[in-house]
Amino acid sequence: ETIRALLKRWRNMAPKTAGEARKRYSAAQVRHAVASGELVNYYQPKVEVVSGALKGVETLVRWRHPDDGLVFPDQFIGVAEEHGIIDDLTRIVLTEALAQARRWREAGLVLRIAVNVSMDNLARLDFTNFVLGQIVRAGGAPDELILEVTESRLMTDALASLDTLTRLRLKKISLSIDDLGTGNSSLAQLRDIPFDEIKIDRSFVHGACRDNTRNAIFTASLAMARQLGIVTVAEGVEDQADWDFLRQQGCDLAQGYFIARAMPAEDLPAWLADWETRRPL
Ligand code: C2E
Ligand code: CA
Ligand code: CA
Ligand code: CA
Repeated sequence: ETIRALLKRWRNMAPKTAGEARKRYSAAQVRHAVASGELVNYYQPKVEVVSGALKGVETLVRWRHPDDGLVFPDQFIGVAEEHGIIDDLTRIVLTEALAQARRWREAGLVLRIAVNVSMDNLARLDFTNFVLGQIVRAGGAPDELILEVTESRLMTDALASLDTLTRLRLKKISLSIDDLGTGNSSLAQLRDIPFDEIKIDRSFVHGACRDNTRNAIFTASLAMARQLGIVTVAEGVEDQADWDFLRQQGCDLAQGYFIARAMPAEDLPAWLADWETRRPL
């Protein structure tokens, strides 16, 4: 399988990044943040490459810390996952995202909302019913929601999650494989999982037009997705060259700083008005 060989080569080449010095929060602090409503949802636009049209947003959680300011998920999602807090966290994020989708819908903006979920969510037997219940409460339709699961995590616990993933799919909720290329899955393994979208990790997107290995991995991922008939999203689109490359390759959707950073819900209309004037075609 060529994509596996490419990825192997990629990993051997990639410089080993020294772990960034980060403040690590305790489980008690994260639990407190979740319980006291200090988490806020930010939203990053997902746009169609052929038209530049806004199609949806990805929900990215932030922690408004009373002393430390805005804390990014890399500093607390891991703790939440390790200490059994992630199930509550995801449910709060998802509930608010659906409420926000309703507000946008009522203002005339129909968007597909993506929410990141962890393996612990998918292992809970009541997760599907919880999600469906929240969709009904928010007056939405199941096909407006996409759940993103990272490839690496999916593969370490594929069997435990398959049941929930299948149920969600039967209820018309979409599934997206996040960070494609960062795990070790083979095409055959991915084929067993019912998903609708792949997101090609930004390490294979930004600068792909100037780098043979990235370019090859990107192209192979796109070809695989086409074969399976699923939607492709490129993340980490940071400049015009990245954008032009996606257009040329025929990738479906794009996300990245070139288009917009994640932002509070109330900033979306102003961003959209600006984007409409400058979107590249
Ligand atoms: P992800 O799902 O792969 O999300 C994409 C990350 O890349 C986000 O970081 C986003 O702000 C950042 N990003 C977007 N465009 C660009 C770009 O052009 N260049 C660069 N360099 N970065 C870009 P963020 O918000 O810090 O989130 C980090 C990770 O935390 C996410 O990665 C996701 O795995 C996790 N995460 C965020 N929110 C949640 C959540 O509610 N639940 C769970 N389970 N995980 C979450
Ligand atoms: Ca994601
Ligand atoms: Ca991702
Ligand atoms: Ca990523």
